[in-house]
This record gives sequence, C-alpha cells and structure tokens, in this order.
Amino acid sequence: MAETQPTRRTFLRNSTLAAAAALLGTFSTTGYSSSPRKAEGVRRYNPKKDGGCAVSFGYDMDMPCGGNTYLYDRSLGWLYTDECAAHGHLNQDVRDYINLLGARAEDAGVKLQFFLEGNTFEKPEDMAHWKAFAKRGHAMDSHMYYHDSLIRTPVEEVTRQLGKTKHLIETELQQKNIGLRGPGGYRNALRGREDVQRAVLEAGIEWVSTQFQYPSNRDDDRAWVERIPEQQPFYYETGLLEIPFAGHQDRSFFDVDMGGSPRPVDEWIAYLKQCIDIAYEKNLFLALTVHPSTSFKHDPQARYLKEVFAYCRQRPDILVCTYRDMYRWISQDKAAYA
Ligand SMILES: [Zn+2]
Repeated sequence: MAETQPTRRTFLRNSTLAAAAALLGTFSTTGYSSSPRKAEGVRRYNPKKDGGCAVSFGYDMDMPCGGNTYLYDRSLGWLYTDECAAHGHLNQDVRDYINLLGARAEDAGVKLQFFLEGNTFEKPEDMAHWKAFAKRGHAMDSHMYYHDSLIRTPVEEVTRQLGKTKHLIETELQQKNIGLRGPGGYRNALRGREDVQRAVLEAGIEWVSTQFQYPSNRDDDRAWVERIPEQQPFYYETGLLEIPFAGHQDRSFFDVDMGGSPRPVDEWIAYLKQCIDIAYEKNLFLALTVHPSTSFKHDPQARYLKEVFAYCRQRPDILVCTYRDMYRWISQDKAAYA
C-alpha cells in the first residue's frame, strides 16, 4: 500500500496542481474544484516540518447542571435549570443541527470532532441519535460523564466518570475513546496536577484538551488570534498529550455568560478566517472549540462551516481534520512536542 506521508515536496506539488484546479474552479458553477486531502489517509504530518496547517472543529456537548444548562430552544431561548434533570440531553432542534453540521462536513469531504458527556446516553432519543451519527465516521471522544471540572473534582470521581463514559463510547458507538476535553477549560491546563494526569492515563485516555487561555482584552478579536501560536500541542512529563483550545470558544465570542456578546455571524466567520490565516502563516495546529447549541442559536444554517471549509480549500496544504488525527500525527513524532 502506498504511503501517504506528506513532505514539503508533495505539498508543493499538490499546491501547484490544486492552485491550477482552484483557478479552473473559478470558472465553474460549483466553486472550488480541488478536492480536499483526506486527513485520515495522511500517516504523518507535522506542520512545522511539512508546511501548511491543520484545522479541526471540536464540538463540546455540554449542558451542565446546577443553573447552567446550555440547551438552546428556538422558542424558549437558553434553557436554564437548577435541577440536574437536563444534564447533557439534547432536544430535537439540536439533534437536527448536529446532523446538519455533519452534512456540512461531509459535503466538504472532511470529518468533525465531538466530545460527549456520558450522561447523554441516558436518554433513548439521544442514544439513537449518537449511534446513527457515529456511523458517519465523525470522531466521538469524552467530555466527562457530568461535565465536572478535572481540577476541582476528587480524582477518584474523575476516574469513575472517565471509565463510565469510555465504556459507553466504546460499546455503544464502537469507537475507541482515548481523547478527553476538559470541561470548562483551565488557564494552566493540567500543569502541576500530575495526580490528575496519571488518573487520566490510567483510565485509558492518551490525549486531553484542557488549556483555555484568554487575552487581557477579551473584546479584541485580534488579541485572541495572536495567542494561537502559543496554544500548540505539548506533552506533559507524565506522557499525556495536551491539545490546547485555540483562541475563542464560540461561547466566549457570542454568549454573554462567558464574556462574549451577541454578534453577527459574519464577524465570527471573519474571526475564524483570521485564525486560519495565522495558523497557515506560522504552520500551526488550530484546534477550535465550538458548541452545537451556540452555533444553532447564532447560525441556524451553519453557514460558518460552509464558508470556512471553502476558505480552507483555497489552500490545499491546509488539512481539515479531527483532534484524533492531530493526536495520531503528534504521537508519531513525540520528540518534536516535548
Ligand atoms: Zn464543556
């Protein structure tokens, strides 16, 4: 079997071919005619060595209880409850929207990353939804069982929730779960919490995404963008891989409870394009953090995905991928990320 290892030379060759194809595409009615590189077929990739950049949309399914449920209802707005009844359960609008996100990705020939709270499997409609969705090949990893913080929850409870969620993902969705998004995100990631890192590794999780840092001026989009070169994957000494949140979450951009403000979706699209530009210019991993409920509220047609994927396709050495792909590439070249 031919190896699809990208090198600078193959990227350059592909760039030339695809640039020509893109040029031809401007005369077609369908837009860009170049087809995207299939991330899952790329065996090794390090943007610093190979050029280009890697872009992933990572969707967190969180509706934490305790006064903070993030389930958007088109007639009721955000649903807040002090009870834990809602947990990570979905409504029909959000299930439909997740299917639309999947369709947007499939139209572009790429895959999405999802992080599920284990308790989403408690509701039969949600279980059926995720089982069907998983068959479409999008990556499903863990977001704890109850969206509890990795750094504030007793370690034994972290272990219990990770085990339970991993078991559900693996038995119900038939996907191996070795990835975890840390609920909420933490400024210092899991630095100084070797106990948590070890518990995560012992639970069979090999990579986490927990670092969320914001600039001193949260209203300045450019300040968020300029931090992205520092928000790159690294290994903790325990051997656990961290893939930091890159830039804004859609929630910190749009939702007032996270310091954002209601803004036109065109500003979100413009912001995302700036993120891609810096990732491309500096050869970075761009691990974006998004939430179906927030996306649904602000962009019910998921136009941002369509536009961002089209933007990525203008440059064939941009790989649109899952966090799992990033982990796979990085773990083959560990020394470069120590
Ligand atoms: Zn979350």
